[in-house]
Amino acid sequence: MKEQIVKLLMQIPVPGESESIVKFVELVDVHEDDITIKLKVPQKYDKFERAIISSVQDAIKRGIPAAKHVDVLVNIVKANDMAGEGGISKVKKVIAVASGKGGVGKSTVSANLAIALAKQGYKVGLLDADIFGPSIPKMFGVEDAQPYSRKEGEKEWILPVEQYGIKLLSIGFFVRPEDALAWRGPMAGNVLKQFVQDSDWGELDVMVIDMPPGTSDIQLTLCQIINITGAIMVGTPQDVAVIDVVKAIDFFQKEKIEVPILGLVENMAWFTPEELPDNKYYIFGKGGVEELAKLRGLPFLGAVPIVMGLREGGDAGKPAAMNENSIIGKQFAEIAKKVME
Ligand code: ADP
Repeated sequence: MKEQIVKLLMQIPVPGESESIVKFVELVDVHEDDITIKLKVPQKYDKFERAIISSVQDAIKRGIPAAKHVDVLVNIVKANDMAGEGGISKVKKVIAVASGKGGVGKSTVSANLAIALAKQGYKVGLLDADIFGPSIPKMFGVEDAQPYSRKEGEKEWILPVEQYGIKLLSIGFFVRPEDALAWRGPMAGNVLKQFVQDSDWGELDVMVIDMPPGTSDIQLTLCQIINITGAIMVGTPQDVAVIDVVKAIDFFQKEKIEVPILGLVENMAWFTPEELPDNKYYIFGKGGVEELAKLRGLPFLGAVPIVMGLREGGDAGKPAAMNENSIIGKQFAEIAKKVME
C-alpha cells in the first residue's frame, strides 16, 4: 500500500512548481485502514499548508477508496532546519543583535562580538541585515569587496566575503549605502531571503546578525525565515533609549516570534578621558539597561564604555576587539563567553 501512496503523491505538484510534493514526504505510515502522511515543508510554502493537506487527502481517498482515515501532518520548517539545502543549514547557532533604534551601537557590538567569538575559536559568520544603514563592510575594511558566486547546476550560490576569518554578507556589497536607504520593505525582505537561502555560508558555529533597528516588518521577515537561537539587545543608558529596548524585547517575546532573549548590553555606558583614566563620566545616565535587565529577569551581558578607539576602529575597518588586551577586547571576550553559555 505504501508504494501506491507514494505513486499518488508523485502526481501532486508543489503549488506553483512542476516538481511533485513527494520531495517533502518524511513518513508514510499505514495501520489497517488508517493512513498517516507526514510532510516536512519549507517555510516559503506555509501559505499553501491547507491546500497541500486537502490535495493530499483528496488524492489518497480517490486512489485508495478503502482508506478510512487519511491523516496529513505538515511540519513547516525554517530555512536552517532543511537539511542539505545549503544556505544556513550548516549553521549551528544564530544570534541576532537588535536595538530599539539606530545609532546606539548595534553594529559596533555585532562586529566586535563576531571578532571576539572568532578569537575564541568559533567559526563565525556575520550577516549585516541592517538593510537601511549597512555599516559592516566599512567596519571590516571591505567596502569595495564584491561577493563571488558559485554555480551548482541551475542554482547560483552567493559566496560571503571573508575578512579576519569571518564570513560576511551585507547589502552594502551590492548597492551604495545611500541607495539602500530608499529600499522598501518587500525588496529588502527579498534580499535578506537571498542572503539566508541562496548564500553558501558553509559550516559555522555561530552566525551573528546585525538586525535592522526597530520592530518593523523587516524584523518579522527575518524571524520567519531564520530560526534564531537567541537575541541580544543593545541600548544606551538614558531613559528614552531604554524604552526603545523594552519595545525590542517585547517584539522578540511576542507570540509566534518567541525568540529567547540571551541578554542585554549597555553601550556608551560611561566616558573616561585619556588624561583622567580614573574618572568615569555617565554622559547618558547610569545603568539604565542593567536595571531593565534586572526588572525583566534577563541576563546582563556587560557594559561597553564610550571609547574613542571603538569608533576609530570601526571607521578604520579594524574592530577594536581585535586587540584582545585592550579594555574593549577584554569586555567583548566576556560578552562572547556569556552569550555562548
Ligand atoms: P547602530 O548600528 O546602532 O546604528 P553603530 O554601531 O553604527 O550604531 O554606532 C553609531 C556610531 O557610534 C558609530 O560611529 C560607532 O563607531 C560609534 N560608537 C558606537 N558605540 C561606541 C562606543 N562605545 N564608543 C565610541 N563610539 C561608539
